[in-house]
Amino acid sequence: MTTRITHWIGGAPTTASAARAGDVFDPATGAVTGRVDLADAATVGAAVAVAEEAAQEWRQASLSRRAQVMFAFRELLNARKEELAEIITAEHGKVLSDALGEVTRGQEVVEFACGIPNLMKGSFSEGVSAGVDVTSVRQPLGVVAIISPFNFPAMVPMWFFPLAIAAGNAVILKPSEKDPSAAMWMAARFKEAGLPDGVFNVVHGDKEAVDAILEHPGIAAVSFVGSTPIARYVYEQGTRAGKRVQALGGAKNHMLVLPDADLDLAADAAVNAGFGSAGERCMAISALVAVDPIGDELVQRIVDRMGKLRTGDGRRGCDMGPLVTAAHRDRVASYLDIGAEEGATVAVDGRDVGDVDGDADGFWLKPSLLDHVTPTMRVYTDEIFGPVLSVLRASSYDEGLGLINANPYGNGTAVFTNDGGAARRFREEVQVGMIGINVPIPVPMAYYSFGGWKASLFGDTHAHGADGVHFYTRGKVVTSRWLDPSHGGLNLGFPQHD
Ligand code: NAD
Repeated sequence: MTTRITHWIGGAPTTASAARAGDVFDPATGAVTGRVDLADAATVGAAVAVAEEAAQEWRQASLSRRAQVMFAFRELLNARKEELAEIITAEHGKVLSDALGEVTRGQEVVEFACGIPNLMKGSFSEGVSAGVDVTSVRQPLGVVAIISPFNFPAMVPMWFFPLAIAAGNAVILKPSEKDPSAAMWMAARFKEAGLPDGVFNVVHGDKEAVDAILEHPGIAAVSFVGSTPIARYVYEQGTRAGKRVQALGGAKNHMLVLPDADLDLAADAAVNAGFGSAGERCMAISALVAVDPIGDELVQRIVDRMGKLRTGDGRRGCDMGPLVTAAHRDRVASYLDIGAEEGATVAVDGRDVGDVDGDADGFWLKPSLLDHVTPTMRVYTDEIFGPVLSVLRASSYDEGLGLINANPYGNGTAVFTNDGGAARRFREEVQVGMIGINVPIPVPMAYYSFGGWKASLFGDTHAHGADGVHFYTRGKVVTSRWLDPSHGGLNLGFPQHD
């Protein structure tokens, strides 16, 4: 039995048949559980037409009404988040507790967006000149699009749509075609929360749908999250078409462990951040840099801990689930051979999956460790995006820092040390957007902004926080004179204020 997953346009699932559709898998069983419609340009156009009309009315809704709808959505989400977590696990594979964690982090942005009346406040200057006042306001853009990746089917869309909607825009969400059902569940909850039809739409699809979004003149802004090559493409095409674009890309997050660090803390952190969600997190640690002489000792402690992890079906209380597709599992697993050929040591080989707690046809790869990795190896230069942790050795703090700063990505990084001075230097000197000090996955809270540097972000605006409000609104400044209607007669000079 496979479920058909259609688009959500104008407050309801679409019924028209689609020319193209894609398979959706349960990664823990390998079974096809759904067929998702893949939109063409006409379907994207239909969604934009509905959203444009809805945006006209929604921007007129009072700030209180917008906050109330967001609050009602928050209540529904909070009360039923286990349902959403189950949907995520069934299509992504991550373990249920992790899926619930993802929903909770997304919910924090919804809660932040409930404060939209405060966040949208403008400014006012009385008497900039005799009888003249100036006020600034921020207004919504109209229709905005969100294009999201497979690895956080609920949280990443929630980085964006709460603020976009609360600010008075209409949204078209194009989720990953690999796990499209979470978006449909959230759309249905918005309808229950009282959001007018057409303000939140979901269009499924692949490159064809993305290209249609990038070309459509009715879409004012695009928020994208995914791999770096596609992020660059989306940024270039979207800005060429005159849109405002923020495109968050891939990552290669380093964890620098200094010799004075608490090695048990560092080993726990490396395992948690390296193998949580099977390494399919943009903030996963994928490269651990051990500063001499602690390398061997740290690797041993990590290997000991890896032996205790249980891999299996995310619904069975395991530590780590399967990878998202068979093709992705095969690609990630191939890096173990590539690493060995390049001279790395395969310290733990996760391809022996005999004891996983799940169906034999699931997309399994157990936690794997490559030691003695060097900066020119492909296992280091490529984003692997799976449960393969690489360990490099450095002779000093400076060498470790140099590695991180030379890397083209700059999403997240962490330093482990008990030396406050070293931590302070790291904070100041490292060229990365999100920094952890004895914290391995430093994901900012909703009221700060999320975003990387260098090839991890195209555009200058990060997700949520003050940046999010800024991205989904544009400024307008009004200069007015009421009390002193006199004027100085004809004067072609540039206006000056006394
Ligand atoms: P992806 O780039 O393959 O896909 C992302 C989105 O782009 C999807 O909606 C997909 O349908 C669409 N897409 C795919 N190929 C396309 C093409 N050729 N043209 C136009 N659109 C296309 O990424 P993914 O595999 O779904 O997600 C994993 C990637 O996302 C990793 O690189 C990860 O680091 C990154 N990521 C980054 C962040 C961040 O905050 N920087 C967060 C999560 C994930």
